[in-house]
Amino acid sequence: MTKEVDIRLSPEIAADETLFRKAIADHLCVAVGEICGIRKLKQSLDARKPTVWVNCRVQVYISEEPGSKIAEWPEMTNVSQKPEVVIIGAGPAGLFAALELICVGLKPVIFERGKPVAERKADIASINRGAPPDKNSNLCFGEGGAGTFSDGKLFTRSIKRGNTRRALEWLFLHGADERILYEVHPHIGSNKLPGIIAKMRETILHHGGEYHFNHCLTEIGIESGKICKVVFNGNIQCETSAIILATGHSARDIYQLLDRKGILLEAKPFALGVRIEHSQEFIDRAQYHGKPRGKYLPPASYSLAKQIDGRGVFSFCMCPGGQIVPAVTSPGEIVLNGMSNAGRTGKFANAGIVVTVDNKDFELFGEGALAGMLFQQAIEQKAAEISGNGIAAPSQRASDFIRGKISSRLPESSYFPGCVSAMIRDIFPKNICNALRSGLIQFDKQIRGFASSEALLLATESRTSSPIRIPRNPATLMHNQVTGLFPCGEGAGYSGGILSSAVDGMNTALQVAVHLKS
Ligand SMILES: Cc1cc2nc3c(=O)[nH]c(=O)nc-3n(C[C@H](O)[C@H](O)[C@H](O)COP(=O)(O)OP(=O)(O)OC[C@H]3O[C@@H](n4cnc5c(N)ncnc54)[C@H](O)[C@@H]3O)c2cc1C
Repeated sequence: MTKEVDIRLSPEIAADETLFRKAIADHLCVAVGEICGIRKLKQSLDARKPTVWVNCRVQVYISEEPGSKIAEWPEMTNVSQKPEVVIIGAGPAGLFAALELICVGLKPVIFERGKPVAERKADIASINRGAPPDKNSNLCFGEGGAGTFSDGKLFTRSIKRGNTRRALEWLFLHGADERILYEVHPHIGSNKLPGIIAKMRETILHHGGEYHFNHCLTEIGIESGKICKVVFNGNIQCETSAIILATGHSARDIYQLLDRKGILLEAKPFALGVRIEHSQEFIDRAQYHGKPRGKYLPPASYSLAKQIDGRGVFSFCMCPGGQIVPAVTSPGEIVLNGMSNAGRTGKFANAGIVVTVDNKDFELFGEGALAGMLFQQAIEQKAAEISGNGIAAPSQRASDFIRGKISSRLPESSYFPGCVSAMIRDIFPKNICNALRSGLIQFDKQIRGFASSEALLLATESRTSSPIRIPRNPATLMHNQVTGLFPCGEGAGYSGGILSSAVDGMNTALQVAVHLKS
């Protein structure tokens, strides 16, 4: 017999296998020995009241062994002799597209400008030490894409867009912890993600797919409105009639290439601002009603949002126990992001605090599709100029930013390349600064001390989502003008984050199959 149970438990009971089993048995009025298995279906933390609870939905197997496995491998045959589909970019969109192509009997041929995931680490370490970024190997470019060295948060607001469960199962089957399948806010962590990405490569190669590293797309051949070839590194040609373009939103050269070729692009709103850093202990106390988190609660997180003068101001990509990292892809720019390990054991908490921007904000950069991207780049360059053209981040205590005063001394930060005291308002246009300032004042009312002198602002958090959309038919997912071009993932403007990009890759693969079979 199986029973589905919703139960609320103390964090201590939820964390202890024996106590957990007993609580379920008591709830069902059965003996512990009668329970043959418990499968978690959903788990979330409710910290709204002073007593924190863990809400669980579980499937309980009473006098009956749990049946099928948690997740089964989909059927995959060897596709080495099957029709080829070129995938540009081995980020989540490209990788998950490749896995799904194999499932529908097509051969993925992946071209990635960067290096294999393990080799990226040395290049990232050198950026952390202050070296200019390698334009093909950095925190955004290389196998696994932008989310490889990240917090690995796996939630998305866009569950209607596709099969998020299947995307999570792909990750689980490649080594992610089972928890990602039932936690409401799952994450993987930077120490685990590279291994998972490498296993995905093994699966793709094992089933006859191809992988080409150090291949940067530099030209696309189009004849009579149809894709006919792709060129890498300026001289390596490959004929093809279908490409999945999954190059992410930091590939400015790709947007420029498409624009130069007259392929339709659209500017789209996005958001930019700063990273804010607090001690994790402060966030724990704020979220756990003044108490330290103790042994059983996870490092606390937050999510804040306000409308200020018609603009959204919100926290973005919050990393509990995390570290601020240089996500820069070209010299002379400063771009920040956050990452953490699976245990989120760091002593800092960071998040983007960003303001929405749209066409009116980038008027100065013309009316073309690239205007938002040029505006974004100008902000990143301004930050570098203020920092002295290195990658130390212009920084200011939040309270000083609000008062318009330079910080004479900066608090400690997790940002390894270092911080430079600066007036953050000198980086952004006035209206964006005003919204940021008002947002911080509002957030400080929600979390007392959020914008205090102990909170550090670092600039810039500028790559929240793509400033450009590559328009595609909503049903076929193919570009409106170019037959065989499938813009996909975050760079195409159809996803934001690891999970939604993975799902977009999976959806795109299925549409490519429909196209090739039609
Ligand atoms: C430090 C950091 C932390 C993050 N943390 C999180 C998080 O916790 N949770 C979350 O959901 N999201 C996070 N993100 C965002 C997330 O990584 C992206 O939303 C996601 O990776 C987008 O997937 P994608 O496949 O569309 O593009 P990308 O991941 O950007 O992948 C694009 C790939 O294309 C390759 N490429 C680019 N140009 C070319 C070219 N010309 N030729 C060949 N290959 C090319 C790149 O090298 C890259 O591998 C984080 C991002 C960063 C940088």
